[in-house]
Amino acid sequence: MKYGIIADIHSNLEALKSVLKALKDKGVDEYICAGDIVGYGADPEVCMQIVREVCNVTVAGNHDHGAIGLLNLDYFNPEAKKAILWTEEQLNEEERTYLKNLELIQKAGDSLVVHATPLSPQEWNYINSTFTANQNFKEFEEKVCFVGHSHIPVVFSMDIDEGRCKYAFDTKIHIADGQRYIINVGSVGQPRDKNPLASFAVYDTGTSEVEIYRVEYDVETAQKKIIDAGLPRGLAFRLSSGV
Ligand code: ZN
Repeated sequence: MKYGIIADIHSNLEALKSVLKALKDKGVDEYICAGDIVGYGADPEVCMQIVREVCNVTVAGNHDHGAIGLLNLDYFNPEAKKAILWTEEQLNEEERTYLKNLELIQKAGDSLVVHATPLSPQEWNYINSTFTANQNFKEFEEKVCFVGHSHIPVVFSMDIDEGRCKYAFDTKIHIADGQRYIINVGSVGQPRDKNPLASFAVYDTGTSEVEIYRVEYDVETAQKKIIDAGLPRGLAFRLSSGV
């Protein structure tokens, strides 16, 4: 089975379309979305519609909750907050219900999927160190957990016998016996690792390999739509440099 894993789309339709085309070319069987379909970008409704059609498993992100009043907006920085308020106005009742009904954590085959952390998904903390990864490995049993949230692709692995945790920015990961993994697949619609290309992952259970890929997309159109919608201009500019 080949899984395509996407996260942090953030209403960026141009990036989503490029990523889905790449996943289709790679012969993916099932699609997984690790949250944050909306927020920041100018196409919340179309992105949501596509994710609903394509993804077999989807979990909610903090921006998805913010856009329907499930998360206090004080949590967000001023630009993110403006985009969430704008997004809220775009959504109809049916779309709000869809977001509301998304689970925070779900199984996908043998793997686990959560936007932020298995430890306390509703608190929207980050797994950004071996310390926080180690705390989280104790909270789930699956061999692999896919996450998003930081918009930075990274792999945390834990040696089951020694309990030792390490991290790597490898883009090709062999899922080895005796190891467990927390894999951040990076962001489709707003990468923040100084690489503006859209990020996603493919998990091939046949070869036991996870690969993180980057693809080009029409950044200029995504930026123009953000500016035309009256969203904060900084949300457009950052897409050129991947920050
Ligand atoms: Zn996000």
